[in-house]
Amino acid sequence: MIHLLVNATVLTMDDSLPVAQALAVKDGRIVEVGGTDEILWLREDEYEVIDLAGRTVVPGFVDPHNHFSIAALEVFWPDCRTADCVEELQRRLALAAGDAPAGEWIRGVGYDHTRLAGRRHPTRADLDAAVPDRPVLLVHYSHHQAVANSMALAAAGITRATPDPPGGEIARDKAGEPTGLLFERAIGAVETASRAGWEARFVDVARAATLRYAALGLTTIQDAAVTPAMTRRYAQAREAGVLGLAVDEIMVGSRGWFERPDDAAPGALKLFVDGGYRCAMRVLRDGAPQTSGFLFYERAELAALLLGAWRAGRRVVCHAIGNLGIETAVSAIEEAVRAMPEGRAQVRLDHAIFLTRELIARVAELQIWVVAQPSFLWDARRTPPRGSTPDPLVLLRPFGSALRAGVRQAFSSDFPCGTNAPLLGIAAAVTRTSRTGQLAAPEEALTAAEALEAYTLGAARAAGLDGQCGSLEPGKRADLLVLSADPLTCAPSEIASIRVLETWARGVRLPNPP
Ligand SMILES: [Zn+2]
Repeated sequence: MIHLLVNATVLTMDDSLPVAQALAVKDGRIVEVGGTDEILWLREDEYEVIDLAGRTVVPGFVDPHNHFSIAALEVFWPDCRTADCVEELQRRLALAAGDAPAGEWIRGVGYDHTRLAGRRHPTRADLDAAVPDRPVLLVHYSHHQAVANSMALAAAGITRATPDPPGGEIARDKAGEPTGLLFERAIGAVETASRAGWEARFVDVARAATLRYAALGLTTIQDAAVTPAMTRRYAQAREAGVLGLAVDEIMVGSRGWFERPDDAAPGALKLFVDGGYRCAMRVLRDGAPQTSGFLFYERAELAALLLGAWRAGRRVVCHAIGNLGIETAVSAIEEAVRAMPEGRAQVRLDHAIFLTRELIARVAELQIWVVAQPSFLWDARRTPPRGSTPDPLVLLRPFGSALRAGVRQAFSSDFPCGTNAPLLGIAAAVTRTSRTGQLAAPEEALTAAEALEAYTLGAARAAGLDGQCGSLEPGKRADLLVLSADPLTCAPSEIASIRVLETWARGVRLPNPP
């Protein structure tokens, strides 16, 4: 069966034919792109003509930094994003404990301490009061801090005698007892344990998650933190045929998100150069330069890790958020590239939130990909350095400056840390306006064409997948979307309300809700 999609405005992202009217799809691939008349000539014995009546067709969105496995499993866990007091958190956790299988961990997701009455984190005692008889982990929306109850701390072997791990902190009360609050690398073992049992059910929820993603226009993603255990779950899901979109895995260590993978593990690897909510910053405190947050590697160690990975043929994703984290990553990449110039094609920088003009110039010079998150602009969430002001030279998410300086910039969501819908990310990159109408550095706005490219072809290139997806060209996967309006010609303020009417993934039309 050949499908002939005609009478459309096809935004191909292919320089040799940027706008076409029609395309033909067969066996999961794009066969031809061109004018309606020439595509209609491709009729075969079995064919379907789909008249799109002038609608806009774009490539399926590619998200090179998404946490699909976590997002899929979240259906099992109480959503604590909207809780506005500790009592409400307790109620949701207790309710979940009543429903969960015997002995299973309870994991609350997405709480935001700045929304809670008193603006404080809950404690182990708060969680013990809600769920005394099972381990509980309440994960912060940033995924870089969490609160454990007493049973969870005990399961992870965390006591008053446990030292803070490098790059992490176990919060303690005045008597030295852990309060339950864990920062950055201290989350490791307890976080891994909190979802181990639930991961066995991934295959049951992967299909539904696929359809939620497809309805937003996502057809290819990279899961940006996959443990070896989760790799086996992905293999099961593929075998069962329940992954309706293409998922590429980026590996982290078996002992936790922030740990580096074993040398023997296959695939791309993720290295956390700094923390998340407590990223490594150069800041001013009382007018004096200081540093804050957690830096996980020094330059020389990171450069050696990069070279080792490149020599083994592996791609590396460097997570760096703070200006000090980014500076460390960039210095290490520069050093490694001097030793192995071709390595620049095997590394990328993810997040890069607190940039300076000097760092932008160095990243542009390196010609590495940066994977940024306009979704955080939409959510209007910041990663504030605590009790200080950042270096006045720091620019926050300077997408326009980066692009104009020649940085290779791709977009992603970091979902569930940021909003999943690419069209909302594109809208935020173009309007610099959040969901609540907050305007942030409008001089950093991109054009709709630049933002669309960053979420399609740019994202595919950053992921190393542009041979397969990211543009509508003969031979590539038939991953495409029919949109309710043309993002390049509609008013910028209307981009956020564009709907994805149809999603085709590998030539299969997935059911989108009306
Ligand atoms: Zn992430």
